[in-house]
Amino acid sequence: LDRTAYLPLDSASLPARLGTRAELLDRLGPPALWQVREVGDGNLNLVFIVEGPKGSVVVKQALPYARVVGESWPMSLDRAFFEHEALKRLGTRDPGRAPQLIFFDPAQAILAMEHLTPHKVARRAFMEGEELPLMGEHLGLYLARTLFRGSDWSMPTAARKADLALFAGNVELAGITEELVFSDPFKPAPLNRWTCGLEDAAAAVRDDRALKFAAQEMKARFCTCTETLLHGDLHTGSVMATADDTRVIDAEFALYGPMGFDVGVLVANLWMAVFAQPGHRAGGRAQRAYGDFLLATVETLWRVFAAEFSRLWRTERTGILGGRDLFEAQGDTLGAAAALAHHLEQVWQDALGFAGIEICRRILGLAHIAEFETIADVALRARLERRALAFGRHLAVNRRDIPSIDAANRLVRTRE
Ligand code: ADP
Ligand code: MG
Ligand code: MG
Ligand code: MG
Repeated sequence: LDRTAYLPLDSASLPARLGTRAELLDRLGPPALWQVREVGDGNLNLVFIVEGPKGSVVVKQALPYARVVGESWPMSLDRAFFEHEALKRLGTRDPGRAPQLIFFDPAQAILAMEHLTPHKVARRAFMEGEELPLMGEHLGLYLARTLFRGSDWSMPTAARKADLALFAGNVELAGITEELVFSDPFKPAPLNRWTCGLEDAAAAVRDDRALKFAAQEMKARFCTCTETLLHGDLHTGSVMATADDTRVIDAEFALYGPMGFDVGVLVANLWMAVFAQPGHRAGGRAQRAYGDFLLATVETLWRVFAAEFSRLWRTERTGILGGRDLFEAQGDTLGAAAALAHHLEQVWQDALGFAGIEICRRILGLAHIAEFETIADVALRARLERRALAFGRHLAVNRRDIPSIDAANRLVRTRE
C-alpha cells in the first residue's frame, strides 16, 4: 500500500480532492457548491460533514498520530482499514445499525459514509436530558446479533480463522486498550489524570490489591478470550440516536475478544451518565426521572440482549461450536438450555467486570467522559466521580456476586 501520497484533508481542500468521486457527486451535487465542516470531537481522527445541494455525507480520515495527544504520539493509519472492515461486518450482522458505507480509500485512510442526521451522540442527549425510548432495545439487539454472529457459535472454521488473523493486525489499537484501560489507571502512569480533589482516591486505587487483581483478571480475559469480533470502543460517544433510530459508529478498535467487553463498556457508560446527572440538572423529580430512564435503558438492553442471544442460539447455532449434535439431536433440550444459561452467565460476569474497569479508567486514566468533564463546579464533579469510582470498584471486585441487572441497577441507586 503506497502511503507516500497521504495528506490530511482540510475543509478548503476537500471538494477539490474528493470532487471527482462519482459516489459523492451522486449524493451531493457539484463540488463547487459543497459546504464542509470539520466536526471531529473524538480522540483520534478528522471527521467532516460535507453538504451539497442534493444531500450530505460524512468523511472520516485517520491522522498519523493521536489527535488527543498530538504528533508526539504516532499512530498507524491502518486503523481506518480496520474500521471499514469492522463496519461492513457489523452492518451485515445487524442490518441498519451501522452507517451506510460509501467508499474507502486505503492510501488516504479516508472512509466516506452516510451522514447521520438529525442523530445526536448519545452522550450529548444524556447531558441535555433527552429521552431516547428505543435505544435500550436497539442496542440489546445489536449486541446479541453482532456478538453471536461474529463468534464460533455462528461462523465456520475457515472464515473464522481468516478473520481472527485479519483483525489480529489491528495491534496498535489493541495495545492502547490494554494499557490505557486495563493498566495505567491502576498504577502511576504519565498519562493518568483526575479531577482536583480525587488525589486520595487515585492513591487508594494504586494500593487496592483486590481491585488490581480484578483489573489483571479482566485484562487476561480481554487478551486471551477471542470469542467474537468486538466493536472494541462501544461507549456512548460511539452511539448516535434519534427518538426512533439508533446507530453505532467508530469501530476502529475492532478486534476479537470476549462478548462481555462490548456489553460492559456500554452499560458502564450508561451508569456513569446516571452518576453525572446532578451536574446537569437541578435535583428533584426531573433528575430522578432521567436517572430512571437511563437505568431502564440498561435493564432493557440486557433483557433484550439475553432474549435475542437465546433466540439466535436456538435458531443459528450452526458454526464451529454448534452443539446441536451433543444436545438437541439426542433429545436433550434441557442440556442445550443449560449450556446457553452457562454462556450467558459468563457474559454477564465479564460485562460487570469490564464495566467496573471502564468506570475506573474514565475517572483516573487518560480519556474522560463529557458528562463529567463538562461539570464546571469542580468540587461537585469530584464528588460525583468519587461515587462512580466506588461503584466501579465494587463491580470489578464483586462481579461474581451480583446476580441480576436489577441488583446492579439497585447498587447504582444506593450509591449515586
Ligand atoms: P473518533 O474515532 O475520532 O472518535 P468518531 O467516528 O467517533 O471519531 O466521530 C467523531 C464525531 O463525528 C462523532 O462524535 C459525531 O459527532 C461525528 N460523526 C461521526 N460519524 C458520523 C456520521 N456518520 N454522521 C454524523 N456524525 C458523525
Ligand atoms: Mg469516537
Ligand atoms: Mg475529570
Ligand atoms: Mg474512534
